[in-house]
Amino acid sequence: MSADVTKLLKKIEADDVQFIRLQFTDVPGMPKNAAIPVAQAEKSLTDGTWFDGSSIEGFTRIEESDMLLKADPASYALLPWRPQEGKVARFMCDVYTYGNKPFEGDPRYVLKKVLADAAKMGYTYNTGPELEFFLFNLVDGKPTTQFADQGCYFDLAPMDKAEDVRREIVLSLKSMGLEIEMSHHEVAASQHEIDFKYADALTTADRVMTYKFAAKAIALRHGLHASFMAKPIAGINGSGMHTHGSLAKNGKNAFYDANAKDGLSDTALYYIGGLLKHAKAITRVANPTINSYKRLVPGYEAPCYISWSTTNRSAQIRIPAARGNSTRAEFRSPDPMCNPYLTFACLLAAGLDGIKNKIMPPDPTNTNIYHLSAKERKKMKIDMLPGSLAESQAELVKDKVICEALGPHILETLATIAEAETDAFRLAVHPWELDRYLATY
Ligand code: GLN
Ligand code: MG
Ligand code: MG
Ligand code: MG
Repeated sequence: MSADVTKLLKKIEADDVQFIRLQFTDVPGMPKNAAIPVAQAEKSLTDGTWFDGSSIEGFTRIEESDMLLKADPASYALLPWRPQEGKVARFMCDVYTYGNKPFEGDPRYVLKKVLADAAKMGYTYNTGPELEFFLFNLVDGKPTTQFADQGCYFDLAPMDKAEDVRREIVLSLKSMGLEIEMSHHEVAASQHEIDFKYADALTTADRVMTYKFAAKAIALRHGLHASFMAKPIAGINGSGMHTHGSLAKNGKNAFYDANAKDGLSDTALYYIGGLLKHAKAITRVANPTINSYKRLVPGYEAPCYISWSTTNRSAQIRIPAARGNSTRAEFRSPDPMCNPYLTFACLLAAGLDGIKNKIMPPDPTNTNIYHLSAKERKKMKIDMLPGSLAESQAELVKDKVICEALGPHILETLATIAEAETDAFRLAVHPWELDRYLATY
């Protein structure tokens, strides 16, 4: 047993831990876990823990289902909303196959692979996401779309009825190692946002999973449902997961150049060029459901045109005003239904392709794109994001760079899911159709 494992086991004992959750993520981005009693911890931390992967969406077929969970010691955290006597700890795990190889369907592995490509070029990749969510009432234990409050952007109590829920989520996340920068009521009734400090993309993706898990668990204790659905209600703002990204080389922000126009280095421009080039394929992963595309429409602070800007928020990519070490690109199209590991992997692969191939982006669009006519957009060569899951899936398979980043296993799973979802939606008779046609025809 290594010294590190001995130290960790001592910490687990000192923390009075009774159960350990071995957590991982399936291809659609759902958190999964198995709990082991603390007596199994030593075995799990040295050899790993076997599990049956056949029932996990996008994992393996039944005939090759034995898989191994290997805990990442750096991800150790206590779950603060569980009992405080005989505590529960969790580890994020890497998934290995029967032959003790990293499993290609493990989203964490996919991100690690692209991070290794970046490391070969001397880069570390930092991301900082802004996840928005709704708090809805539970009725008879079931989630509804009933608002828990009527507050709007930056409201205080009594309009904001969720200050105590957010407070508890913030304190829990803080105790789990996230540095919280801000929390506030969002634009829509019952909509909220909690922002945490950026970190390397793997740590951040783990933290996105932690954030969603904590928000849901704590909301439930208040009789509420925390929903990360992209557009739960037509006609009002949906929930985004704007993702700020930057590259660092030798510990210095590689996007900043004090002598360049707007303070943006060539590396930053090429990165933006890469994101724009691959934006359509990335959409399949960053906006992964039928519902995601109902958010990407004009008028609700969500992007629908492939564009970048140093000033305005209607563009898909915005460069926030801060420079120096804070120079970064905010990619505004992802929504919080996405798998963060796969989304960050795609964003990085696109950015690196831009840098390798010196893809210069067009001039930034600093006017409100929502107000441009189709003709003006055409003249400015501003293309639209895919309008549906079927469209983004078709874009994905055409994009070699993004396909290579995801690998054949994940690609096959995404194709299967897109087809099944599109078919199921096509077969459903939507309430809108009944409203529109039943009485008239
Ligand atoms: N909710 C908006 C979106 O869907 C963002 C609103 C904001 O943060 N200003 O992206
Ligand atoms: Mg924000
Ligand atoms: Mg916001
Ligand atoms: Mg933002």
